[in-house]
Amino acid sequence: MRKISSLLAGAAALLLPTAAMAGTHDPMALQIKALQDDVAYEIIEGLTTEVGPRQAGTGQEARARDWSVKKLKSLGFQNVRSEPFMMPTWVRGAETATVVAPYPQKLFVTALGNSASTGGEGITAEVAYFDSLDALKAVPDGSLSGKIAFVTHNMHRAQDGSGYSAFGPIRWFGPSIASQKGAAAYVIKSIGTDYHRNPHTGSTGFGEGIQPIPAGALSLPDADNLERMIKLAQKSGKPVSMKLVLTPQNLGQQESGNVIAEVVGRDPKLPMILIACHLDSWDLATGAFDDAAGCGIIAAAAKNIKDHGQPLRTIRLLWAGAEEVGIWGGKAYRDAYRDQPHAIAMESDFGADNVWRVEFALPEAAKAVSDRIAASLLNLGIGRSAGQAGGGADIGPIIADGNLAIIDLQQDGTRYFDLHHTPDDTLDKIDPAQLRQNVAAWTTVLSIIANSDADFTMPVKQ
Ligand code: ZN
Ligand code: ZN
Repeated sequence: MRKISSLLAGAAALLLPTAAMAGTHDPMALQIKALQDDVAYEIIEGLTTEVGPRQAGTGQEARARDWSVKKLKSLGFQNVRSEPFMMPTWVRGAETATVVAPYPQKLFVTALGNSASTGGEGITAEVAYFDSLDALKAVPDGSLSGKIAFVTHNMHRAQDGSGYSAFGPIRWFGPSIASQKGAAAYVIKSIGTDYHRNPHTGSTGFGEGIQPIPAGALSLPDADNLERMIKLAQKSGKPVSMKLVLTPQNLGQQESGNVIAEVVGRDPKLPMILIACHLDSWDLATGAFDDAAGCGIIAAAAKNIKDHGQPLRTIRLLWAGAEEVGIWGGKAYRDAYRDQPHAIAMESDFGADNVWRVEFALPEAAKAVSDRIAASLLNLGIGRSAGQAGGGADIGPIIADGNLAIIDLQQDGTRYFDLHHTPDDTLDKIDPAQLRQNVAAWTTVLSIIANSDADFTMPVKQ
């Protein structure tokens, strides 16, 4: 029996002239090697040290593109290029919040992206408190005239980060709703889970025809303090008033851009694998978790594939610009490349802690591929999700346009929203061991899909 099977294995090797080449991409061997990776950390260290904060549309983001092109070339990638585009640019100004009465004290605040300015004089007004976005929605239009609307929440840490989709709307849509109700300004309890006095920034937007108003986020302890003041003052029928100064500016259309690099495959006719992260960060920190980590992880993994022989399919890296402020890089990528065939898209934009789950959106015909990936990731402590992969912000536009297959390597988000969009998002928060587990997971998946000739065409959506 043993003899026959070894003979068969020998015959199979003879029949497959590419076996030697495929052997160099043995997923398990590459996975073990990737657990020693230093490239991802090097990229995060370089971006956070040599560039620093990389807000979209600014000179800092342009320096990040220059740094990235040089780095990706030095790592041996092909077709490395910067692809500029224009986008509306908003920058932070002064930002202070002070309770004027009845308990005068300073609070820690930061403006939300796209906030209007209060002017240098600021706005001093009564605070109208809401314990949820629904409570804000429920009051009549015009009823908040001249007031500062304040919305809190009860977000908790979760491995899958699900609190963000539950409470994110307070930041994303709250300012528009408050404006429609007549509010002069809007403040929120930061959408986060830490209790440092660091407010969390992040984008908001104002709907068509809605007057932009000043909008800021208080640190979580300050928001809780304000809530206590309001409840205490209510007992004696006194209002709480606050002075808010936010002086951001709109600079109009400024240049941002994507950085693209490739590992060119042996068969250029096979649809490519697209892997993405975003290069821009908020201005408050050096953006180690969000998202220098993602760029480090995907580049380190692609380099592992490249260094062990040419893969069958092309792997394209997209280090997107201007994600934080409206996914401008993802949209520019879609507009530029919608006519090129893409097989599968993947993105890393949830920090640098361990991948704990893999989720697929692959056609039934590629079931053997997803089964092989899931089995190969068990060594890294990664389980298989029964859910459907959804991708990420930067690959969202090209996925929607081309109905692409998706694989999500989901990272542990337990501490992600402690750091997200705060001054605390710095290099020291990166755990090198967990970062390497990410690189190993990505290397494993890329070694399988970039060498597979399976048909990844998704069924047409109903
Ligand atoms: Zn991000
Ligand atoms: Zn972000």
